[in-house]
Amino acid sequence: MEQVTVVTGGSRGIGAAVALRLASAGHQVAIGYERAQEAAEEVARQIRDGGGTCMVHQVDTSDEQQVDAFFGAVRETLGPATGLVNNAGITGPLGRFAETPVEVMRRVVDVNVMGALICARRAVLDMSTRYGGAGGAIVNISSGGATLGSPGEYVHYAASKAAVDAMSLGLSKELAEEGVRVNSVQPGMIVTDIHAAMGDAQRPWRKSDRIPMRRPGQPEEVAGAVVWLLSPDASYTTGATLRVTGGL
Ligand code: NDP
Repeated sequence: MEQVTVVTGGSRGIGAAVALRLASAGHQVAIGYERAQEAAEEVARQIRDGGGTCMVHQVDTSDEQQVDAFFGAVRETLGPATGLVNNAGITGPLGRFAETPVEVMRRVVDVNVMGALICARRAVLDMSTRYGGAGGAIVNISSGGATLGSPGEYVHYAASKAAVDAMSLGLSKELAEEGVRVNSVQPGMIVTDIHAAMGDAQRPWRKSDRIPMRRPGQPEEVAGAVVWLLSPDASYTTGATLRVTGGL
């Protein structure tokens, strides 16, 4: 079966690494980006140079109409989605909980939780045998913070990612009989732009003493786990949460 996999936030960081690795594994890849069109086009160029097939589309994953348009364009260009990597996510500016503006928290929940729900809902309509699909797999990118907690830095972010894990687990049970597997990956401290909003002292490479493996991870080290969960090798794995944290 042709694998057509949608990667949200595929322009940068973990999503870009996932898109590249999926293409190497033979998936046709639909790369979603919000603002970084040039970066998304660069990922697509690398995929095409390597002989892969892909497309690039602008989408704010928290907007239902934009998500519908994205999946519609994917269906037209590559075919119905058989895979989704719900990767788009933000932390917002970090700080003490009581000093974090409610609007910041609301946007983080909107993108990280509503965005993931909206994309998963749309993907299920393509994939589930109940709706005429041929089956598929969803990987939700959560965070080690969802279960480890992140006091004093990003409590609202950790809360949003715990919601992603809960969605993953519930959905895995609902869709198990409909040919769709659903799993979560919890990255630890991975070197990407997401830390640009943090103070220098908070960046992962400054916190390596808290990580048993004594180093932050690279996006490619998360991508391997995601691609495995989407592969036939993971055909009996659903409802799992895979922590990729260097032991944190
Ligand atoms: P980056 O900041 O490097 O990239 C974020 C990606 O998400 C970009 O492609 C961005 O698009 C996209 N994006 C942001 N908001 C939206 C939106 N509203 N609609 C669509 N796309 C959006 O982050 P990472 O690669 O580090 O993070 C990827 C995922 O991994 C996130 O869910 C994050 O929470 C999670 N994670 C990351 C960790 C880390 O240490 N890096 C640790 C734990 C979890 P654009 O480029 O167009 O702006």
